[in-house]
Amino acid sequence: MDNNLEMGQLELILDVRAELAEGPIWDEQQQKLYWVDIIGCQVHCFDPLTGQDQAVNVAQMVGTVVLRAGGGLVLAMQRGFYFCDFTTGELIPIGDPEADLPDNRFNDGKCDPAGRFWAGTMGTISPRQPSGALYVLDPDLGIRKMIDGVQVSNGIVWSLDQRTMYYIDTPLKTVDAFDYDLASGTVANRRPVIRIAAGEGGPDGMAIDSEGMLWVAQWGGWQIGRYDPLTGKKLARIDLPTQHVSACAFGGPDLHDLYITTARENIPPEALASQPHAGSLFRIRTGVRGLPAFRFRG
Ligand code: ZN
Repeated sequence: MDNNLEMGQLELILDVRAELAEGPIWDEQQQKLYWVDIIGCQVHCFDPLTGQDQAVNVAQMVGTVVLRAGGGLVLAMQRGFYFCDFTTGELIPIGDPEADLPDNRFNDGKCDPAGRFWAGTMGTISPRQPSGALYVLDPDLGIRKMIDGVQVSNGIVWSLDQRTMYYIDTPLKTVDAFDYDLASGTVANRRPVIRIAAGEGGPDGMAIDSEGMLWVAQWGGWQIGRYDPLTGKKLARIDLPTQHVSACAFGGPDLHDLYITTARENIPPEALASQPHAGSLFRIRTGVRGLPAFRFRG
């Protein structure tokens, strides 16, 4: 593995032991990290300067959080898209494209460079059916279904030239690429570009760095992998002291810090004894810079 990045030591920065921490996103204006506990039905905001973490209860499962250009947050939840004022906890419903599918919920999602919010769904009943889909919430608040037959909709990022969208449906164990038309917000020509090695878990959330490389959280794989999406090659790995690594996001004053969320979900009690910090937040200084998060422009 030709890992020529200089990386710091992994730090446990918030020993919160959440059931399912996910969706980290760095707010470069406030210099704070938002994240969600999906099963705990909470949106959190962590301030690395003070070490303080604040949470609001949103009363339903919340899959992900993005920043709104005009201030505030947008959430993709169990029952659709919502605006959220973090300071008051006020929620304003926008729309639910799966009101007819009560066993589904929203999972991961992010904004594209044009300020559209892409987020996907998954079933919550086992055995899991491919009943999920990937949607886009446009700035005019219209919702379009873009991909059908999804099992567990997860990480999504755009290439530096904005002409490719990378997307993860976890059980496929691949990162897939699509040609991306930024003007219309449409995708075409799906193909797998990264395959997660056997025994290294399933791909979950991901982030892209300023060299165009993908940092993929590997659920059940005890690690974040850094991959080149043009060759499929694995370039580096960050080992975590817990098996379910759910997502990551670049942050910090210079966007060199990788924030990592993890989960306790589905870890048997006897296994939790040897990974007590499962569900907590970690951070590692990387030798590469991330990109600022795109904001919702509606
Ligand atoms: Zn996820």
